[in-house]
Amino acid sequence: MNTPSPRVALITGGSRGIGAAIVRRLAADGFAVAINYASSAADAEALAAEIRQAGGRATAVRADVSKAADVRAMFDQVEADLGRIDVLVNNAGVLTLQTLADTTDEQYDQTFDINTRGTFNTLRVAGTRLADGGRIVNISSTTLALNMPTYGLYIASKAAVESFTRVFAKELRGRHITVNAVAPGPVATDLFRKGKSPELIEHFAKMPPLERLGQPEDISGVVSFLASQDGGWINGQVLRANGGIA
Ligand code: NAP
Repeated sequence: MNTPSPRVALITGGSRGIGAAIVRRLAADGFAVAINYASSAADAEALAAEIRQAGGRATAVRADVSKAADVRAMFDQVEADLGRIDVLVNNAGVLTLQTLADTTDEQYDQTFDINTRGTFNTLRVAGTRLADGGRIVNISSTTLALNMPTYGLYIASKAAVESFTRVFAKELRGRHITVNAVAPGPVATDLFRKGKSPELIEHFAKMPPLERLGQPEDISGVVSFLASQDGGWINGQVLRANGGIA
């Protein structure tokens, strides 16, 4: 289904890492982009300025996705700034590595509040406010296939995101909106590097048969495809983008 251009994409956690690559790629694809951030205001504003400088349309919008009121206000602001929302990319996320036995209540709450409730909050609003013919892409993780020790909390929070993806694709029947997830393997960002030794990073880099870490652009290209005309027949799926790890 075609909608008039330019289409508008909202990327949560678009200030840094994979989210910033998705912002740049969708802007290059011709989308007007809304760059959500929680605390990295300077990064988000600089990225919006970079896109405007290149002739695109961009706005930066602060919202903690774990807060329902923030998310509703974010949709209001993006609609006011850019007219409507056609594509929602749920990219905002955090990673805490801890054995289950040693996980604190605070770690549990933070992980599920941002990764799971944050995605739920935006999906719930998108259910009534995303334009017909739109696209939703949720960022999950290949760690679901690996079940590595200390990743339990993170994997569980993303397993819920994959479940939302499959069910929401069916609940949106009649709206011509696709809902998919992309599940990256290790990608060279702050989230991945934090707390890891150079040796451990090298170990992760050797895991895929393609023998390197993913780059944010490896993931933004997949999101671009799912948001494009060519990706329009893919719905309710999880695409693993990981160089062949699993
Ligand atoms: P990153 O570099 O740490 O960036 C995280 C982004 O999420 C930042 O833009 C941050 O914004 C935003 N964010 C965090 N909490 C937020 C909140 N409460 N509300 C709104 N935004 C929030 O991480 P990344 O590696 O790019 O990860 C992006 C996504 O990919 C995550 O969902 C992650 O789980 C997933 N992923 C990453 C990898 C990997 O190896 N890197 C692998 C698989 C999946 P602020 O700076 O403004 O807080």
